[in-house]
Amino acid sequence: MKDYGLTEEQRLIRDSVHDLAHDKFGPHAATADKQYQAPVHNLKPLAEMGYTGLFMPEQYGGAGLGVMENVLVVEQIARYCANTAILYSCTDGATPRAILALGSEAQKHAYLPAIVRGELLTAWSMSEANAGSDVGNVQTRAVREGDDFVINGSKLWCTGAQVSDLFLVWVRLTNDTGMKGMGAVLVHRDTPGFTIGKHLDLLGLRGTGMAELVFENCRIPASNLLLEAGRMRELLGVLDADRITGNPPVCLGVAQAAFENIVRHVKDRQQFGKPLADNQGLQWKLADMAMDIEAARALLYRAAQRVDEGNPSIVDTSITKAFVNQMAVRVTNEAMQLAGACGLSEDYPYERYFRDVRGMSIGYGTVEIHKSSIAREVLSGRYTH
Ligand SMILES: Cc1cc2nc3c(=O)[nH]c(=O)nc-3n(C[C@H](O)[C@H](O)[C@H](O)COP(=O)(O)OP(=O)(O)OC[C@H]3O[C@@H](n4cnc5c(N)ncnc54)[C@H](O)[C@@H]3O)c2cc1C
Repeated sequence: MKDYGLTEEQRLIRDSVHDLAHDKFGPHAATADKQYQAPVHNLKPLAEMGYTGLFMPEQYGGAGLGVMENVLVVEQIARYCANTAILYSCTDGATPRAILALGSEAQKHAYLPAIVRGELLTAWSMSEANAGSDVGNVQTRAVREGDDFVINGSKLWCTGAQVSDLFLVWVRLTNDTGMKGMGAVLVHRDTPGFTIGKHLDLLGLRGTGMAELVFENCRIPASNLLLEAGRMRELLGVLDADRITGNPPVCLGVAQAAFENIVRHVKDRQQFGKPLADNQGLQWKLADMAMDIEAARALLYRAAQRVDEGNPSIVDTSITKAFVNQMAVRVTNEAMQLAGACGLSEDYPYERYFRDVRGMSIGYGTVEIHKSSIAREVLSGRYTH
């Protein structure tokens, strides 16, 4: 692998995660997909190697490293098992980041060390039937009653729901409309009145335990309030960092895997008495794929470095997320085409690669919503180079 200007420590992390994912996760990735199994057991070796809680400060047992290291780990896991990469991002992503940035001291001490040890899996629950891109329209309510909050409502598309222990739930706390009346609470899996609803099967990422959540007079202590009403911008800020670590590296890792496999395939497969790779038209397709992947990696690594240097930007995040999402759909789709009928067969990985990245253009903010963010910055004059 090339060094991409990475430090020696970063290359060491990348290479050791690569070896683990290649040896232990890759051989079971197709089974997890076919059987809709969430491969949570893969988090154990990652925790043992110190790769859960990478960004967490040392006082909570973490490694205190940056977004760049997180990106490298997710990319290498996704190269061999996208479901594991998503589960890793659930527990090393938005919810722990939010608890670290916004939680009380008691919440940090109660949850962060266990999350770092890989013993407490977390999920992030924002979306509802009428609150998708329009996240300000959350209707699930949490009403204060004495020392408790009582929650009623339901949530959709919660990644990791079936295997998670702790849920960060976006709720309406006051009668103010939009984001103003919203806040966030932490809910334990075993809380009476809280049930994991229907398993939601999407096109891909079938091993991420996605489900709906149902709250019926679910009572939680007031101390489980993470964020009071009127401060949702701070929570969105947390999500911005996670949009770099949680989604684009999964797409990049899967696209890389599709590319490597298809290069081998077109060199091996003979048609008309010669390898497919001898056709110039197919060579140009490979060149397009290589160009796409290199551009995506450069964008992603640059965005991660900027966050680590203390210069995050909405434009960097949105350009990176939208470009890497679209690149992965192009590359995995082209790999299916180059593999012919094998590309569509479940006996080969190509259709799974395509299915796994397709939903990433919708999760973590759709490509269209990110393009609107980019356009807003461009038109306002804030976007310069
Ligand atoms: C793989 C995956 C994982 C997910 N994980 C989670 C999770 O863990 N937790 C969670 O809470 N949610 C999760 N989601 C849900 C996700 O956040 C929503 O699907 C997403 O916000 C889009 O909402 P929607 O599906 O309701 O689409 P809609 O908002 O209904 O959008 C439909 C279409 O209209 C477009 N559109 C909408 N508004 C505009 C506009 N103003 N301008 C231009 N185009 C627009 C969208 O881009 C899209 O193409 C996940 C989704 C996926 C696919």
